[in-house]
Amino acid sequence: MVRSDDRRALLERDLPGAARRGEIIALFQPQFSLETGEVVGAEALSRWIHPRFGLIAPGEFIPMAERLGLVGEIGDVMLRLGAHAARDWQDQGRPIEVAVNVSILQLRTAAIVDTIAGLLDEFSLAPRLLTLEVTETTPVTQVPEAIGVVHRLSGLGVNISVDDFGAAYASREQVIALQAIELKVDQSLVQETQGARGEDLARAVEFGKAQGMRLVAEGIETEAQLARVRALHCDRGQGYLLSRPTTKADVDSLLVSAGGFRAEE
Ligand code: C2E
Ligand code: MG
Ligand code: MG
Repeated sequence: MVRSDDRRALLERDLPGAARRGEIIALFQPQFSLETGEVVGAEALSRWIHPRFGLIAPGEFIPMAERLGLVGEIGDVMLRLGAHAARDWQDQGRPIEVAVNVSILQLRTAAIVDTIAGLLDEFSLAPRLLTLEVTETTPVTQVPEAIGVVHRLSGLGVNISVDDFGAAYASREQVIALQAIELKVDQSLVQETQGARGEDLARAVEFGKAQGMRLVAEGIETEAQLARVRALHCDRGQGYLLSRPTTKADVDSLLVSAGGFRAEE
């Protein structure tokens, strides 16, 4: 057994260069239209395949990458993997929107604008097939440069989404300032459909709709949660009930089998 302090020290030693060595991979979790039940998008979720410890979840290594200043190199790999998958689905005649998580720390400089413009060009990818989910691990007020960078990214035609709404730092003011087109309601609101948080879910959806935003409910685990977010007219849903994060090949099979959920009651 490796003590947790030792594990952390070993991971911190090995994380630099992990992206370059091809150890960062993307799983994809399908996103479904809550109206038709079809797969309309897929979120790219990173995993680190460590030579000794095996598969490591982003909850463990992304905060580490942020601390060590490595979130840019890992983020660039994820953007490339996401753009590549979107291009492949575009070629298959299935315009699946791919969402890539972007840390607010990646938005401190405009370098990401050139990176994304370069990827759209390289893969001849329609910009609307790429969504950037801004995850606020740091309040955007502490990274004022990010607002301008996000606006420049919007100018490229890619979709900006605010992730974990209702849980992380994202306030209504910040959502408005970012001019995002999509709001992802955090799973804590989606899963607690009774009591105070159930109200929070309804209020979050109402706010997003009032801003003219697309609403995505994440973390749907039960039929009751699915029914609730459909009743609230969320546009899209994502969660273990519908599909777990899986390999690109598995999502391809799901698409071929016309896999979706049955939207009719
Ligand atoms: P997130 O962006 O909110 O992604 C959703 C997380 O919820 C994923 O965990 C997903 O596997 C999980 N999930 C999906 N459906 C369900 C469900 O029905 N129930 C439950 N309990 N969980 C569900 P994952 O893959 O471990 O990612 C955790 C977080 O790490 C992400 O949350 C995101 O904030 C961050 N992350 C992942 N990949 C990247 C990345 O490439 N870059 C950055 N900056 N952050 C990333
Ligand atoms: Mg996300
Ligand atoms: Mg989220």
